Amino acid sequence: MPTVLLTDAYPKQKTQRDQWIVAHRARVDQTARHQLDPFRPYEWLVEEEAAHNGEVVPVTTIFLTNRECPWRCLMCDLWRNTLTETVPVGAIPAQIDFALQRLPPARQIKLYNSGSFFDQRAIPTQDYPAIAQRLRAFERIIVECHPLLVNDACLRFRDLLNSKLEVAMGLETVHPEVWPRLNKGMTLDQFARAAAHLRDNDIALRVFILVKPPFMEEAEALYWAQRSLDFAFDCGATVAALIPTRAGNGAVDVLAERGEFSPPRLETLEAAATYGLDLKRGRVLADLWDLERFSSCAACFPARQARLHTMNLQQTVLPPVGCAVCGAS
Ligand code: SF4
Ligand SMILES: [Zn+2]
Repeated sequence: MPTVLLTDAYPKQKTQRDQWIVAHRARVDQTARHQLDPFRPYEWLVEEEAAHNGEVVPVTTIFLTNRECPWRCLMCDLWRNTLTETVPVGAIPAQIDFALQRLPPARQIKLYNSGSFFDQRAIPTQDYPAIAQRLRAFERIIVECHPLLVNDACLRFRDLLNSKLEVAMGLETVHPEVWPRLNKGMTLDQFARAAAHLRDNDIALRVFILVKPPFMEEAEALYWAQRSLDFAFDCGATVAALIPTRAGNGAVDVLAERGEFSPPRLETLEAAATYGLDLKRGRVLADLWDLERFSSCAACFPARQARLHTMNLQQTVLPPVGCAVCGAS
């Protein structure tokens, strides 16, 4: 069993962990929570993504403004773009209208809300019909949700749609010691049960996996990304997104100062993506946002970023990038 980086500094009990994680938010910014309008999404965009059938399709993503997620996951910084109160009924449909009026057409849509779409204090259930009505032009609807909130609300929302529903859940890692320390507030069994509930009800599953979460050595990061991919596909995932872990939310920055976290190397993300694509059990997407921070060589970074981008779209492994400067081969 690989070892993990464990010290006594990080609280062992959930209540103390919640407090510790929230207390360290102030480390990154005194005005960390952004001022948001409940009738405006905080971001909206269209980008290409490989679809389940091999096509590359335009996908709209709307980042909805809503009440903060009730969990306190160690690495989460999504609270920055949330409100402290539930939005009024009608606000979420208004946000969708606002974004769609400003974006080109797309085939699929992600409604990401910095938490759980099926959290009734985040997205009022009274708005489900109005939301569904605005999604009729899209062939796939992707929302995110904590596994403990995958329940009958998902089915009520699914029944209002005229297209396929996909739910994204954060698995993060299956490392038996690191997993509980991420403060996800659930067990791997609960994750698997939520995945089975989706599968039994004809709802597709997308899984988020952290590459090298806190408390993990670089040498072990690839192994655990691979085991997490295995677990995700065992749970029926149709797509797995590999996210290199970043500091920046306060708590992870403190762990970095204590030597309990450092970002993964680009090579680790590349190897994890290669492993996942070679499995051919579902789509594998490497998260490329702010990728340069994981690179140690400016000479080959553009080619390596382009390679991963193409691998994401084509869902095939490309030859590695060689580099005379850093010796990559
Ligand atoms: S469940 Fe998701 S949004 Fe909520 S704290 Fe955890 S990572 Fe953040
Ligand atoms: Zn190089």
